[in-house]
Amino acid sequence: MTDTYQLLIGGEQADAATGQTFESIDPSTGRPFATVAKAGKQDAERAVRAARAAFDEGPWPRMKGRERAQYLLKVADLAKQNAKPLAELEARDAGHTIRVAKGGDIGMVISTFRTFADIAAKENDEEPLPRNPGSMNYLRREPIGVCVGITPWNFPIQMAAWKIAPAIAAGNSVIIKPSLYAPLTTIELGRLCMEAGIPEGVVNVLPGTGVLAGEALVASPLVDKVAFTGSTEVGRRIMQLASSNIKKCTLELGGKSAAIVLDGVDVDYAADGALWGMFFHNGQVCSAGTRLFVQRGVHDELLAQLAKRAEAFRTGPALDPSSDLGPIISGVQLETVERYVSLGQEEGADLLVGGERAVVEGHEGGYYHRPTIFGGVKNGMRLAQEEIFGPVLVVIPFDDEDEVVRMANESVYGLAGGVWSGDTGRAIKLAERLRTGTVWINDWHMINPRFPFGGYKQSGIGREHGELGYNEYREAKHIHVDLGGPSRARHPWWEIALPQRTGTAAAPDAETPGSKPAG
Ligand code: NAD
Repeated sequence: MTDTYQLLIGGEQADAATGQTFESIDPSTGRPFATVAKAGKQDAERAVRAARAAFDEGPWPRMKGRERAQYLLKVADLAKQNAKPLAELEARDAGHTIRVAKGGDIGMVISTFRTFADIAAKENDEEPLPRNPGSMNYLRREPIGVCVGITPWNFPIQMAAWKIAPAIAAGNSVIIKPSLYAPLTTIELGRLCMEAGIPEGVVNVLPGTGVLAGEALVASPLVDKVAFTGSTEVGRRIMQLASSNIKKCTLELGGKSAAIVLDGVDVDYAADGALWGMFFHNGQVCSAGTRLFVQRGVHDELLAQLAKRAEAFRTGPALDPSSDLGPIISGVQLETVERYVSLGQEEGADLLVGGERAVVEGHEGGYYHRPTIFGGVKNGMRLAQEEIFGPVLVVIPFDDEDEVVRMANESVYGLAGGVWSGDTGRAIKLAERLRTGTVWINDWHMINPRFPFGGYKQSGIGREHGELGYNEYREAKHIHVDLGGPSRARHPWWEIALPQRTGTAAAPDAETPGSKPAG
């Protein structure tokens, strides 16, 4: 792996047309460590043309699903062979602790490619539709065309895999635009796709700004679908731009997920679980359990445990295996976290733990913040309603289940949620009342490429993963075959519309079997 990175367009590595570059910063040190070509509008247009040619003229969409699956399996194998350098690069570029990067990120990339290889190999492109006398009907699933994937900085290589694997498994070509904050592992994954022999133009990687490269891709009339993961604010802009040619859109957006702890819970287990749900990757996780609702009977005991354990976390450089929490991605994001800590104090919440930058000896230029917990929070406070995307947990007490369901659902978001309880039946009943795309019971962050993931309300549109996620990358075509042939009596509906052509004006029986024209 090098410290100079280029764009990947049409199977080739290239500099930006303008020759512009940017520096990738290691958030553990605050210092640049790699130079990256910065894609602009012209590069976006070139990448779209390459992806278009790969889809319109290349072999990829015309291969059988089981043939494409072999290439995806090869990418998974290459990711496995390169797990160590990829994990180290993710740690440096995105600030993932090396433990998370090794144990989690690369494993998830491998399983995502393997899962979509399995799904594509099933060859489930055609399925019969209900029996209808006189005709045969079936549904055929076809790739959509050129897909654009736009990804955030928090889980760069995983997010790239979540977009590339289903898109290409289904026969599409794809252009990935990673965030400028952490683009490097996405470029490496693109290289692995090339090394696996995936035909040129099927996978393109375009690091660049949202406003130039991103908007040029999303607005292009030659692009058929956009899959976006990022903030709700940018998601709104993506929808507007995608409307120009009615692109298919899937959006995975922000969250402010409610974690509910019920009386009678094992406090020790719930304390660890709530901390894992919240502080995994420093809370820079869309599905983090950032609003912790605790029933009065266990409230004080749990809060004391949370505070004690959070104080014991070790914040340090991402590459140090003893670090529990790494850095925040950037100075800008660190300032956002600080603004919310001040806001929480102004709103009258009780600061129990943290609330300030962490100083890491030898890494004074890095962007570190102590894990922070506020008690005495009201659900209506901005601290409890707005996505902070940093290590700030808010704890809200409650009395009964109706009250907690109402508060949990009082959010513009609906990405994830969870219940911690010793009574599974009670927890399931509560889970069914939460307006979110995922609910975890006695666990958190259990995202699996076999199970659908996505949001209600302003947390998004569509689902990633599993068959549902795969079908977001396929068009559905109904094929109707009339079985009578030219010698049979003309269909009654023809007679309604064109009696002079079919020779009879007799009105058909309203209950005549067969397809009826629809609006
Ligand atoms: P962001 O919305 O600022 O940026 C995401 C991507 O969009 C980046 O690649 C950026 O360059 C690009 N972009 C920005 N403006 C654009 C524009 N006008 N046109 C096209 N592209 C544009 O998000 P972020 O700060 O990188 O990531 C954090 C956000 O991502 C949080 O809100 C988080 O909840 C969300 N997120 C959601 C999920 C999910 O699955 N729901 C997963 C991870 C992150």
